[in-house]
Amino acid sequence: MALRYLLSDVDIGDEEASAVADVVRSKWLSLGPRTAAFEREFAAYMGAGHAVAISNCTAALHLALLAHGVGPGDEVLVPSYTFVASANAILYQRATPVFVDIVGPHDLNLCCDDLEAKVTPRTKAIIVVHVAGFPVDMDRVMRLAESRQLTVIEDACHAIGARYQGQPDSQFLGRFAGTIGHSGCFSFFANKNLVTGEGGMLVTDDASVAERVRLARSHGMTKSSWDKASGRASDYDVPSLGFNYRPTEMTAALGTIQLRKLEASNARRRELAAAYRRHLADTPAVTIPFAERLPDSAHHIFPVLLDPGIDRSKLRARLLEHGIQTSVHYPPVHEFSHYRSRLSSDPRLSRTVDASAREVTLPLHPFLTETDVEEIAGVLKACVAAAV
Ligand SMILES: *Cc1c(COP(=O)(O)O)cnc(C)c1O
Repeated sequence: MALRYLLSDVDIGDEEASAVADVVRSKWLSLGPRTAAFEREFAAYMGAGHAVAISNCTAALHLALLAHGVGPGDEVLVPSYTFVASANAILYQRATPVFVDIVGPHDLNLCCDDLEAKVTPRTKAIIVVHVAGFPVDMDRVMRLAESRQLTVIEDACHAIGARYQGQPDSQFLGRFAGTIGHSGCFSFFANKNLVTGEGGMLVTDDASVAERVRLARSHGMTKSSWDKASGRASDYDVPSLGFNYRPTEMTAALGTIQLRKLEASNARRRELAAAYRRHLADTPAVTIPFAERLPDSAHHIFPVLLDPGIDRSKLRARLLEHGIQTSVHYPPVHEFSHYRSRLSSDPRLSRTVDASAREVTLPLHPFLTETDVEEIAGVLKACVAAAV
């Protein structure tokens, strides 16, 4: 059967097309004035001191670790319940990922007790991931980080535009996810809440971190091609090793328009997530993670957990027969061969392994209607009832 309900879809059209055409006609295609303007708008929206555009979020995470001085021998705490890039970036710096378990089926974010228990004298940093768009308990993470002098890097790929709530007395109340830790990293990959195809951003309030990231994204050169072309500089030095993690001007043109659409499109996602919750409330054998949470999420994806007795692949096949595309977020990182072969002992991540084996991601994007959600929820309920 044809796909009736895509897992995700992008709100992109003529405005973006003509902005990209303008860039092409301008003939300045890489890192330049449009990127600088996009960075300024992004920083202003987020209320962040500095925003640095980078070719993708994986590169942003790498440069965050580099700029915060994470290197060989350092341990970095990271959830295993995440996209593999969160951990890969740690290996790029020859540091050691130490995997942290999740809270449980009702909260797929990292468990702060486990986080605390896994701090050692070698721990240098924590990468938090705001799963599905729901911010991690940053009050607790930042308290721990302060007491043990750790750097906190937020992988905010799912949470672009999510405003932190925390406890009522939280000092971070209303701040955007990604702006609470020492650096925050965002992805504009083709299926995220803000899309440019490939693209990323690092935000920080620390001017020296921003400066190191700017150097490192362009070979470590003290001057950019734009500086040279606009007559501001003719020679340059390379004071430290850099990379080519530059974004293009087309990316900035797309991102600038997409940023203006973000609030409305996240609000739409929130309505649809609420509709899912209404239609799936009290469904036997289906758990909705984060169901108790305040509307503080960017609702990047809508995950549900099936009871252990249900055959997930059969259920997903049944949903597909009804034209409903689903996915799994995520296979645990520590179980991938590359990581498994590097683990010296059992990382004790039973809640991660359990949730990961039972998770199904349902379609969620701004073009769905509440009737679509009702239909998808109805099919899911019927398929689950037939499977138990
Ligand atoms: C998408 C994603 C990434 C990687 O972003 P890229 O821009 O594709 O490099 C990293 N972490 C999480 C949680 C993601 O969802």
